[in-house]
Amino acid sequence: MLVNTDYLVVGAGATGLAFVDALAAAADVEVTLVDRQPAPGGHWLHAYPFLRLHTPSAYYGVNSLALGVDRIDQAGENAGYYERATGSEVREYFAEAAARLAQTGRVRLLTGHEHLGGGSNGEHVKDLSTGELHDVVVRRKIVDARYLETSIPATHARPFDVAPGARVIPVNDLPQTAGSAPSYAVLGAGKTAADACIWLLDNGVEPDRIRWIRPRDAWFYDRRHFQPLEQVGAIMEGLSLDAEAGASAASIDDLFERLEAAGRLVRIDPSRPATMYRGTMLSARELEAVRQIEDVVRLGRVRRIEAGRIVLERGETETGPDVLHVDCTALGLNNAPATAIFQPGRIVLQQVRFLSPTFNAALVGFVEASRDDDADKNRLCPPDPYPSTIEDWPRMMSRTWRTEGRWLSEPDVSAWVAASRLNLLQALPDHAAEPSVQSAVKRFLTHVNAAIERLKQFGEPSN
Ligand SMILES: Cc1cc2nc3c(=O)[nH]c(=O)nc-3n(C[C@H](O)[C@H](O)[C@H](O)COP(=O)(O)OP(=O)(O)OC[C@H]3O[C@@H](n4cnc5c(N)ncnc54)[C@H](O)[C@@H]3O)c2cc1C
Repeated sequence: MLVNTDYLVVGAGATGLAFVDALAAAADVEVTLVDRQPAPGGHWLHAYPFLRLHTPSAYYGVNSLALGVDRIDQAGENAGYYERATGSEVREYFAEAAARLAQTGRVRLLTGHEHLGGGSNGEHVKDLSTGELHDVVVRRKIVDARYLETSIPATHARPFDVAPGARVIPVNDLPQTAGSAPSYAVLGAGKTAADACIWLLDNGVEPDRIRWIRPRDAWFYDRRHFQPLEQVGAIMEGLSLDAEAGASAASIDDLFERLEAAGRLVRIDPSRPATMYRGTMLSARELEAVRQIEDVVRLGRVRRIEAGRIVLERGETETGPDVLHVDCTALGLNNAPATAIFQPGRIVLQQVRFLSPTFNAALVGFVEASRDDDADKNRLCPPDPYPSTIEDWPRMMSRTWRTEGRWLSEPDVSAWVAASRLNLLQALPDHAAEPSVQSAVKRFLTHVNAAIERLKQFGEPSN
């Protein structure tokens, strides 16, 4: 079969869908969206049963469709904060978003189809159910919505060996397996490992039955600084703390000490140096819960699990055939190196504003629809790789701040950002008269340029 299309978008995860939604809203174009999975939604199709968004639903998803009803949770670890969708709610949401796009008649969604690359007759796309090859002739651009494809424990290649007799499960299997184990070893340092620990504690497992194998110690945001709408002042407050710390920091360690002292970032064990920074967050109640786990192994990454021992990068530790090892080791956010987002005949979706994946994809869709010159588009949307370590914070934040400054002098981009439900600061103008918001805005504006200058000393190029 020969298909003609303006855009071929590879990947119907959150970013592919957010891009198409914004592009189709702003331009009269035909789009073909392919994904090798049987449904849209990307990694959310394999979410572990107790996964929720870590950010509020209010600013996640595609621009044209609300996710959730902006409820403030009354109980549990998220009490007082905006609702966060469960994995199944996110999957249903993306299925609906994709169906609405298809109903426009301008978006063709081919799930169960894999993009194989370019050929002499166009792009090759394979129907995975029949094996049939389609040639797709692309009139405008191929959109790579998989450059930052997510890696999760349910689908990744396990980065360690497992000997016969050792019990190892991916985090997805924890609820169905948990009752059968007298003790647990949670493997991994990030948000998924923290979620697994919290799930065990919430389900009655005493802290001393949980061992946490943490190759690195991580920094987490305090979730209170990511609350939008009526609580948007908290986001502004968090951003002002970033700018203040950035403007005064003498070193990376000093920067993180300042962010910790200000309550912007937290680490599970304040007596231990933390080098990992992935941009994830915990609420105060979640932090309190995970701090109960005292048996922490810090010997680097796991190499091999045997019936009686775990071999790690820097040593080994005992284990037993009764211990259930829970694999939470996948990379999660993909921190692939930056490449130009707008290239000849190609768009490569990446982070632009820090930690706003669906906002960024939608912004790139809008800019593609409203501008002609790739150099101009790249000026407005420079790539800003996802962070992994504390050394990445200065580069990520100063790029974000410089890029946001460019949007301000472009009326169409500013208007789009101001109106977008994916913009976490969307409600800020409605709260501009509140003294706490005025103070946060003033402190941010006072310090942001000094922060950009100061952070250059930590290796950020000046372009
Ligand atoms: C556990 C977890 C929780 C998260 N929570 C949040 C949150 O609360 N808030 C937030 O803002 N961000 C969150 N994120 C960040 C997350 O990365 C984004 O939200 C988003 O879901 C990533 O979507 P994506 O489209 O970039 O990637 P993916 O979801 O990985 O989708 C990529 C898609 O490309 C397809 N694909 C790849 N190659 C091909 C090919 N050759 N042909 C066809 N199809 C192909 C894959 O099948 C896949 O469906 C979370 C990430 C993880 C891992």
